[in-house]
Amino acid sequence: MELKRRYTNFSDKLKELFGARVQKLSIDAGFTCPNRDGRVGVGGCTFCDNSSFSPDYCRTAGGITEQIDAGITFFGSKYPNQKYLAYFQNYSATYAPMSVIKARVEEALSHPKISGIVLGTRPDICPDEVLDYLEELAKGCYVGVEFGVESTNNAVLKSVNRGHDYEVSEDAILRASGRGIYIGAHLIIGLPGESQEEALQGAIKVANLPIDVLKLHQLQIIKNTRMCDEFKASPENFELFTMEGYLEFLAKLIPMIPANVGFERFVNQVPPGYLVAPKWGIKNHEFTAKLDKILEKYDLWQGKFTNMPQK
Ligand code: SF4
Repeated sequence: MELKRRYTNFSDKLKELFGARVQKLSIDAGFTCPNRDGRVGVGGCTFCDNSSFSPDYCRTAGGITEQIDAGITFFGSKYPNQKYLAYFQNYSATYAPMSVIKARVEEALSHPKISGIVLGTRPDICPDEVLDYLEELAKGCYVGVEFGVESTNNAVLKSVNRGHDYEVSEDAILRASGRGIYIGAHLIIGLPGESQEEALQGAIKVANLPIDVLKLHQLQIIKNTRMCDEFKASPENFELFTMEGYLEFLAKLIPMIPANVGFERFVNQVPPGYLVAPKWGIKNHEFTAKLDKILEKYDLWQGKFTNMPQK
């Protein structure tokens, strides 16, 4: 079967929505994490080193407006007409008093080049009060919330010190739905204690919730994390994906995902200085080219084997 693209790419959906290429600008808006400061837990999730996913312009540029300016300088020369979403990526962007959340969101939205906002957060820290505010905001601009679900397996969530169970994620997604907010769910594939089949079934389950975006990536062991210590002490407890194995995993998953859900990413590559394993040495666009090839080889496409009702 001849297909232009064999899965729904969320960036294509954004392009359709805005009539232009859309770039998310990662902003460190000064939020913290309740799984580090004692409110939910201490020490954080065992896999987490939050600094490993902050781009350079966000580490060095100062306040929200300055980071937006720096991000636009960084990306703008290649695509001068693109639109921008402010992406509050670091820590938990709904973990602050309402007045603080509003001030930070509104500072970002007051920037003339910003067309919307995306908040990355934990599902246990997104009360209705925040969702009510975002619902109002969504009447005038693009608003997205990305929930870190990470796994649907409660034993796995406990072992990585996540501090919430899967049911909390489902509840947050359901409470956020029907409000005009674009809902994303983030999953890590390959956490210790979760078989590939469990991860596959978990991702299918999450994709059948009322979400718009699915963000996946392979488990990476990052330097100076608790998981790194665990990995060094007992590597036999980890089954890290080879690139080929992960491509095969995605070839099983993608046909089971409803076509209305957009994929925002399949892989993540933390900077080489942070990464312990697995070292695939491949750029994201090279990985997606390989994925396209394997889907073509097996003649698979998103939704091919979906037997659950579409939302
Ligand atoms: S992954 Fe998120 S919730 Fe977990 S410790 Fe890091 S910032 Fe906190």
